[in-house]
Amino acid sequence: MVHRNPCIANIKTAYLFPEIARRRREYEAAHPGAKIISLGVGNTTEPVFPHIGGALSAGALALAALETYTGYGDEQGLTALREKIAAVLYKGMIAADEVFISDGAKCDIGRLQLLFGAGTGAAVQDPSYPVYVDGSVLIGAAGGPIQRAGADSAAYRGLTYLPCAAENNYFPDLDLIPPDCLVYFCSPNNPTGVASDRKQLAALVEAARGRGSIIIFDSAYCEYIRDPRLPRSIYEIEGAKSCAIEVNSFSKSAGFTGVRLGWSVVPKDLKYASGESVNADWNRICATIFNGASNIAQAGGLAALDDEGLKEIRALTDFYLGNAKLIREALRHLGISCVGGDNSPYVWAHFPGRESWDVFSEILEKCRVLSTPGAGFGPAGRDCIRFSAFGHRADVEEACTQLGNLK
Ligand code: PLP
Repeated sequence: MVHRNPCIANIKTAYLFPEIARRRREYEAAHPGAKIISLGVGNTTEPVFPHIGGALSAGALALAALETYTGYGDEQGLTALREKIAAVLYKGMIAADEVFISDGAKCDIGRLQLLFGAGTGAAVQDPSYPVYVDGSVLIGAAGGPIQRAGADSAAYRGLTYLPCAAENNYFPDLDLIPPDCLVYFCSPNNPTGVASDRKQLAALVEAARGRGSIIIFDSAYCEYIRDPRLPRSIYEIEGAKSCAIEVNSFSKSAGFTGVRLGWSVVPKDLKYASGESVNADWNRICATIFNGASNIAQAGGLAALDDEGLKEIRALTDFYLGNAKLIREALRHLGISCVGGDNSPYVWAHFPGRESWDVFSEILEKCRVLSTPGAGFGPAGRDCIRFSAFGHRADVEEACTQLGNLK
């Protein structure tokens, strides 16, 4: 008989969103016909705008004609798209051959872990996007659970939580970062919605360099940044090219959650302890177990970075930021303290002394609104709730009215 990968047994059993869906079904069974509005998952709801949508259609049609048909492309992505990302989004801070096109940031986070294997520990912002922890557990970088720190948050051998809460302005104590590890850092952060400033990211880069650690910087929400003083990329910080990989995506900026298109930047300056090139290995991994992003998706990505496409990205992210503002104002009106929502599509609300799953249930019962319990993002989220701004405007307005029932 073939044995199960023991790392799989180490992943916590109930992944956050299936558990939320289960509780929703339970509520619906008990309240037939009740309308529930979701401010829960971070899934986009609005259609792709016409310029980008037109390019996706044209990309699909090109496959149906002999003259324009294309099969497999380069595993690293279309050269034109790599060049455009380097020029338009990174303003030449990085080179086109440091950009690797992918089928999304989440998939890349999983594959990037193959570069370092089971021997490299990880540090994560707490709370954080669950994939950093679960991916580390799957690859064996984080070992078996060593304690249960809440209903959904396990502590693991080899994994260091970096608490981010109101007390430290949602920026972690960098002294907690162990040497020679991977540091997962997301700004603007999912779930807190807080974006780190230049000084904070400079301190992060300095800490990583001082410890021989590598930052996996997730900037999936950078297009939501409106404060011009806030960095959109870790490479705006001096020294980052020798200690950071960046993952990013068209999912939340262009509405490509279902299209699937992202990229990773692996600078040529980035080296392992042995001095070997991380970029060369990533190139190898992409060619070995990834066969390139969809050519249709990449046609859409090229259009998204035209002047017209960038305007559409701005309009789409403005729309969701408008939702976030409504949610924030509704919560503040109720005296609930919250952060985020101004440079990100997430609002993080604090319920001191309460357990987040209890608050989640109360919001569902009293307001018929689905939220996300903070405990699912790490131990530091146990008294917080995440509200997502991804929704139709009328639904968000209705949800905000319904939240008034929390009074
Ligand atoms: N990174 C963060 C922080 C996210 O919140 C998400 C999705 O919610 C992703 C990455 C996933 O991006 P993609 O759709 O490109 O896989």
